[in-house]
Amino acid sequence: MSIKIEHLNYVYSEGTAYEKQALKDICLEIPHGEFVGVIGHTGSGKSTLIQHLNGLIRATSGALYYNGENIYEDGYNMKALRNQVGLVFQYPEHQLFEVDVLSDVCFGPKNQGLSKEECEKRAREALKLVGLKEKYYDASPFELSGGQKRRVAIAGVLAMEPQVLILDEPTAGLDPKGRDEILDQIAYLHKKRNLTVILVSHSMDDIAKYADRIIVMNQGEVMYNDVPKKVFAHYKELEEVGLAAPQVTYIMHELKAHGLNVNTEATTIEEA
Ligand code: ADP
Repeated sequence: MSIKIEHLNYVYSEGTAYEKQALKDICLEIPHGEFVGVIGHTGSGKSTLIQHLNGLIRATSGALYYNGENIYEDGYNMKALRNQVGLVFQYPEHQLFEVDVLSDVCFGPKNQGLSKEECEKRAREALKLVGLKEKYYDASPFELSGGQKRRVAIAGVLAMEPQVLILDEPTAGLDPKGRDEILDQIAYLHKKRNLTVILVSHSMDDIAKYADRIIVMNQGEVMYNDVPKKVFAHYKELEEVGLAAPQVTYIMHELKAHGLNVNTEATTIEEA
C-alpha cells in the first residue's frame, strides 16, 4: 500500500485557549515495502502523524491517500484501512488483557469476524514470526518478560495481517539485548512479509541501522526526508536542534575535515 500525504495540518483543541498546531503542512510519500524511520524530539509531532496513518486522527486540513484513494472522501472504508494498517502503540503490553498469550493474539482477528480456527492459525503464525517460543502460548501475558510482552503485542497486530506496520518506540524501556532482538525481528518481518514498516524512535543509531529512509520531525514539520546518508550529512543542523547523528558518521566527517584519508565507501559522505 503506497501512502501519500499532501499539505496535512493538524490542530489540537482548535478554537480554545489550548489550541496547538501539532502538524504543519506535511507532504510525504511512502512507497509500499519501504522501511521508514521517523525521528524527532518529544512533542515534534511523531505520534500525531502516525495516528493519522490509520485514521485514528482526522487531519484538520490536507489529504491522505492510500493506493491513490483519499481516505477523507465520503464513503471511504476506514474499517478496512485499520485492518491493513497495524499500529503498535508505545508500551503496547499495557493493552494485553486476555488470560493467556494465544487468546490475546486472537483478539484482533476475532474482531475481524474470522472463525475460531482461523484466528488460532493466524495467532500461532504471528507468534512464530515474532519468535516467541511455543511453551509460552498458554502462559498469562503478565508472567512474561518485558521483551516477550512486547513480542506478544506485536504479534497481536501481525495476526490481523496488515500491509503496513507502524511501531511507536517499540524498544522503549527494554534493555539493550531486548532492544536489539525486537529491532532485528522487525527487520526480519519487513523482509519476510514484504511489509511497509514505519518505525518511530528517538534513537538515531537504531534508525540508522534499519531504515531505508528517515523522516526527521521538528516542531510539527518535516525537517528532512531522505536516505540515511543524506540526512546524516546534515549532522550540524541536526545537532542544532538537539538530534545527534550516529557517532560513526560524525567521526568520519571530523577525520575528513582534518585531511585524513578515510575510506568513506560505506557512507559516501561527499555525495551528500
Ligand atoms: P511526539 O510523538 O513527537 O512526542 P506528539 O505528536 O505527541 O509528539 O505531540 C505533538 C504536539 O502536540 C506537542 O506539542 C504536544 O504537546 C501536542 N499534543 C499531543 N497530544 C495532544 C492532545 N491530546 N491535546 C493537546 N495537545 C497535544
